[in-house]
Amino acid sequence: MAAQRFDVIIMGSGLVGLTLGIGLSRHGVTCAVIDPADPETTLAPAFDGRVSSISSASWKLFQAIGIADRLEGKGCPIERIWVSDGLQPGALDFAPPEDDDMPMGIMFENRETRLALSGAAAAAEHLTLFQPDRAVRIDRSLDGVEVELQSGARLSGSLLVGAEGRGSPTREGAGITVAKWQYDHVAMVTAIHHEVNHANTAYEIFYPGGPFALLPMQPGAGAPDSQPYRSAVVWTVSRRQVEGMMALGERGWLAEAQKRIGGFLGGISLAGPRFSYPLGYHRASRITDTRLALAGDAAHGIHPIAGQGVNLGFRDVAALIEVIVDGMRLGLEPGDAQLLTRYQRWRSLDTLSVTIAMDGLVRLFDVPGRVPSLIRRAGLAAVQKSGPLKNRFMAEARGESGALPRLLTGEMV
Ligand SMILES: Cc1cc2nc3c(=O)[nH]c(=O)nc-3n(C[C@H](O)[C@H](O)[C@H](O)COP(=O)(O)OP(=O)(O)OC[C@H]3O[C@@H](n4cnc5c(N)ncnc54)[C@H](O)[C@@H]3O)c2cc1C
Repeated sequence: MAAQRFDVIIMGSGLVGLTLGIGLSRHGVTCAVIDPADPETTLAPAFDGRVSSISSASWKLFQAIGIADRLEGKGCPIERIWVSDGLQPGALDFAPPEDDDMPMGIMFENRETRLALSGAAAAAEHLTLFQPDRAVRIDRSLDGVEVELQSGARLSGSLLVGAEGRGSPTREGAGITVAKWQYDHVAMVTAIHHEVNHANTAYEIFYPGGPFALLPMQPGAGAPDSQPYRSAVVWTVSRRQVEGMMALGERGWLAEAQKRIGGFLGGISLAGPRFSYPLGYHRASRITDTRLALAGDAAHGIHPIAGQGVNLGFRDVAALIEVIVDGMRLGLEPGDAQLLTRYQRWRSLDTLSVTIAMDGLVRLFDVPGRVPSLIRRAGLAAVQKSGPLKNRFMAEARGESGALPRLLTGEMV
């Protein structure tokens, strides 16, 4: 059987791989997306209890490549971000100026995003999905890429993209080393119904044991009449504690959560199952090789405290599409070494600065005691008073810092 020919072959149809495929297809670049996971499982309600904040820059990418329409009305805008050291006074409060109607991000259940991507992928003209299927042989050479799938299909392409998440076999196969460490932290993730309106505010409350984040969501089905509002909880605890916390019954767990919240949302109840995720940091030493580019968690993974992980992946996507489309217009192939060098340069500084900033933030707030707490509160108060510093933090939250690819400003390449 003759090999089917594609410009780009993408391994992994997670949030990053599929967005890349849809964006490339929108620009007339043909691509194959391969993933062994069965969509019946990955699109089921119980698969992933996570929610992700889609930054305003990522939202512009979604608008430009036709994904946003499928998510319209399903997310909750973040209009304010509140950062505090425990429940102490002296919080940092970000809100855009009144004449700026763009939220800092929009909270979506990962499942909604997956459904929207899956619909957009099915409608994409130049995208072929091989799922569930897996590569049994991959050959990369200076001339191109060849992939053989378990189903027997044979594919050839100009560029291979590894977007298989943190354990990326493509990255391992290329011998790319990874700097990584596990935090002493595990994230407990769920959603709660509550009595008092969240007013579209994301709360990041830092405790020495780990940060406690409340992220606003649209009201959900099955809410008690007295608790019509809903927020996602990302509660980070130490490894030692997590087993005991997850073993707590619903009432006990909610009582512990309420201690961290300090009652400002009124009465609370669980709005979904509880999941737990061990947290780690990793960063590939390089994100390209012969006819290969890495994107998303295959290239880097950060602490979820500021909800930036997948947005960093979408920045990879926007940059890679721009590099490929610009290059093809000049008559170059997508896997051309010059294009890959441009992608590597463009992304490495950005991912390094974001990953270091997130790691520093987590460590800074992890130091127990009164004096570190006083210093942190003084720092928060200083940022609160400084216009330029606050604007810088807000631009980070919106994903608008650094040399932005055109798609992140809402323009097609
Ligand atoms: C607790 C927690 C909370 C988070 N909260 C946020 C948040 O609020 N905001 C945010 O931006 N980010 C958040 N993140 C991070 C975010 O979830 C990840 O950055 C994002 O899912 C990465 O997407 P990805 O497509 O790169 O990888 P993944 O989502 O891991 O997808 C990888 C895909 O590759 C497939 N695959 C695996 N092996 C193979 C193979 N051999 N061949 C082909 N395909 C393969 C998998 O089936 C999967 O579909 C959070 C993470 C955690 C743990």
